[in-house]
Amino acid sequence: MPPFDEYVNEIRSLWESRMLTNGGEKHAALEAALGAFFGEPHLSLCVNGHSGLEGILDVLGLTGEVLTTPFTFASTTNALVRRGLTPVFCDILPEDYTLDPAKLEEKITPRTSAILAVHVYGNLCHTEVIEAVAKKHGLKVIYDAAHAFGVTKKGVSAAAFGDAAMFSFHATKVFHTIEGGAAVFRTAGNKEAFDRWKNFGLQGDAAGVFGPNAKMNEFAAAMGLCNLRRLEACIAARKTAAARYRENLRGVKGLALPPAQPGVKSNYAYFPVVIDPAAFGCTRDALRDALAAQNIAARRYFYPLTSLSPAFGGRYAAADTPVAARVAENVLCLPLYEGLTDADIDRVCGVIIRNSECEIRN
Ligand SMILES: *Cc1c(COP(=O)(O)O)cnc(C)c1O
Repeated sequence: MPPFDEYVNEIRSLWESRMLTNGGEKHAALEAALGAFFGEPHLSLCVNGHSGLEGILDVLGLTGEVLTTPFTFASTTNALVRRGLTPVFCDILPEDYTLDPAKLEEKITPRTSAILAVHVYGNLCHTEVIEAVAKKHGLKVIYDAAHAFGVTKKGVSAAAFGDAAMFSFHATKVFHTIEGGAAVFRTAGNKEAFDRWKNFGLQGDAAGVFGPNAKMNEFAAAMGLCNLRRLEACIAARKTAAARYRENLRGVKGLALPPAQPGVKSNYAYFPVVIDPAAFGCTRDALRDALAAQNIAARRYFYPLTSLSPAFGGRYAAADTPVAARVAENVLCLPLYEGLTDADIDRVCGVIIRNSECEIRN
């Protein structure tokens, strides 16, 4: 969180304007600041990342089937189903957990309209290959960039890829507005359509499309203005913490550390480790329990695969996407945040190393 006084100063003018939402001064200032930060001007703020995704699907006019990954948060898949689209799940790459571009073409049918890929843990999708497949088959490309705020590939922002990208500014993300998000488009027309969509689809007094209420309020935008000033320091602190984890855990048998992609500047959003239980000596869940017993909250994330959501009623199988299934069963995200001390990191690593030496317990 920003210093309390800084936030209070940021919201002071709202007591004069009495403009609390519906696109006030803070909303305008944050849209401009983020547009400049990304180098992408056609950006629209919204109430959360999930609604950004639903709005993008509507604005791009998608129909039928969408190729996507099951190794993601519920939101990605829910957005497709809620907008009347059929997710077609493709497997991920074992090295960086993003969509495997080689698995896309075999799943394309005459009903396919788009690819919805997810940047995972601060790593980026193989955008060139994904977009080449899309171009060949006339598909739109959308990125769930909820994990990728501040991430760049060869200096190009994660916001710049595909037909549109969604960012989440939820309180748990690297950059946040308490709850919030943004949709980034390539054209002013799409941004304007999203601006209307998030305000009930109103054109004048009446709905031109059946939009929801998905506007970001002024207090959330003010939080974003404060947090954007601290972003660089926040990412630097995460980078230092991630390096210490890496140093401490290097060489632990059966423990895959987070991938580092060439040319990609990460935001160190997460520190996922993937366990090979036979080589490591205990299962992911046993390790999670051992950490929890020491008051250390490591998270199974992403788990389970969204294709296995009870809401699908067993329509999809883990065996359809074996790499994603293996990673989801064995991944654990270690605590990582600004303010995590070296001593904390060493304590977490101590528990992991002690457990790596024990027998398989379940
Ligand atoms: C956080 C997250 C979302 C949802 O964003 P909200 O702002 O919480 O609605 C979607 N996809 C991924 C991958 C996320 O991590």
